Amino acid sequence: MPRKHDPEREQVEWVFGLTGGELNDEAWGGFAYNYDEVPDYVRRDYPDLYDGNVSYRTVVGYFVYGSPPEELIDDEGIWERRATYASSGETECPLSPDRVEDARCPLCDSEPGDPHAYIYVGDGWAEVVYRLERPSDEE
Ligand SMILES: [Zn+2]
Repeated sequence: MPRKHDPEREQVEWVFGLTGGELNDEAWGGFAYNYDEVPDYVRRDYPDLYDGNVSYRTVVGYFVYGSPPEELIDDEGIWERRATYASSGETECPLSPDRVEDARCPLCDSEPGDPHAYIYVGDGWAEVVYRLERPSDEE
């Protein structure tokens, strides 16, 4: 079933560089936006990323009113928070420098006739990396 159009999801994809379909369709740990592994730009900081008994997941969320949880628990076990990467919360609209056509741009909210501007999800958004280590005898 096709996903219904969701401007915030698209904005999050552009602001966090996740336009390749990285975001999982289903919420995880209470976070609508999440993906497997870690942000590309910090991959080298996780030397055990490909260890058989270790998994990583990253959630993208809005954390102005509280820190991300230290642990998230699912069927696989307890995922421990490892790092939080804050975002500027904005990026240039990918449709720039064209002008907006018939309706407001769903990404940057510019009005018809104006140039596309910046996509802005706001301050307080961050990517939070969680790590799960399974007992090694399960390998
Ligand atoms: Zn735009």
